[in-house]
Amino acid sequence: MSITGLFHCRGCGGVDTRSVLDLGAMPLANRLLDDIESAANEPRFPLQLVFCPTCALVQIVETVPPKDLFYDYPYFSSFADTMVEHARVLVERLVTQERLGARQLVVELASNDGYLLQHYQRRGVPVLGVDPAANVAAVAQARGVPTRCAFFDAAVAREMAAEGVRADVMHANNVLAHVADLHGFVEGIHLLLAPEGIAVVEAPYVRDMIDGREFDTIYHEHLCYFSLLALQRLFAQHGLAVHDVERLAIHGGSLRVTLMHADSHRGVQPAVTALLAEERAAGLDRFEYFGRFAEAVAALRTELTTLLARLKVEGKHIAAYGASAKGATLLNAFGIGRETIDFVADRSDVKQGKLTPGTHLPIVAPEALVERQPDYVLLLTWNFADEILRQQSAYRERGGKFIVPIPDVRVV
Ligand code: ZN
Repeated sequence: MSITGLFHCRGCGGVDTRSVLDLGAMPLANRLLDDIESAANEPRFPLQLVFCPTCALVQIVETVPPKDLFYDYPYFSSFADTMVEHARVLVERLVTQERLGARQLVVELASNDGYLLQHYQRRGVPVLGVDPAANVAAVAQARGVPTRCAFFDAAVAREMAAEGVRADVMHANNVLAHVADLHGFVEGIHLLLAPEGIAVVEAPYVRDMIDGREFDTIYHEHLCYFSLLALQRLFAQHGLAVHDVERLAIHGGSLRVTLMHADSHRGVQPAVTALLAEERAAGLDRFEYFGRFAEAVAALRTELTTLLARLKVEGKHIAAYGASAKGATLLNAFGIGRETIDFVADRSDVKQGKLTPGTHLPIVAPEALVERQPDYVLLLTWNFADEILRQQSAYRERGGKFIVPIPDVRVV
């Protein structure tokens, strides 16, 4: 989609979208650089968030080709303890609730390194993962989680269905927001889901993003930002109904939506009706709700950059933690770079030794926090704050402080 052409809403095809936030030309948030020489050819793409008044879908305008986004996708879910534990708790519940055993099948879309499906396997439930990143799928295979390397869409789902795949439970965690072929993906769920099966879809909740000033959730890989109103409308177009919904704290606030076939015998849980009513009352189907976001983000920028500038004047050393996509958005959008931050610590060994997108900060192992003892650490992965603050207790006991930037700037 060219920025100069007319933009068609990813949900309904409408052309009357309205701008919510324009971050300008931004680097790709997960494209880490090997060295400073490769920074010269670093691609940038427009990053603009819009709202569709027709179908209530919040989305970005630019679609960066998947081959550019996933060429060396470095994210392994198992590096975040919170993610693995979150998955385990969900699996325990579903195995009991759906009476899953050796005769059922669980399919996960964007199964990553098998962080979720491994829990089903331990309970004796057959699994199948689908993931587009060859290096990540290979890690899953190596730990014994059968994984098909593919971009899931209706065509792939048809192939799998023809091979006899029918899912009693499907999972799609944090992937729906990433898919360019939104309708093909949802149609694929419809095609693979057994008649009385359920699909559990988790996606960051746009309401939490807006209310919590979580603008760093916006990057080129996140094409859509969902409310339940928008999701319900999307799924209904593919014969799927929302059976249940939960609000989760993970990733700064997410929705977990349970889907069933529209002609399934399962009923609709009261939580669905209640949340839809709440969203209408809050105005999530109107532009006005989103119209104040740009101002809120500008205020956050002032709060954070004022604090950092004051600390630099005082001669403090500042590092950052978490070479995440979120962090790339925050640093680039707020213009925070090498003049302020000495290095970025990250637990993922595939990221260490590389440079952050756009800002070109060196990524090092977390041990550097204790070895170099910077005065402050800007926590870019604030969504894992509890986990990281616990892991970095040695740094903190020696007087080190963390700056949590979102939703309000606070020093801990
Ligand atoms: Zn629309």
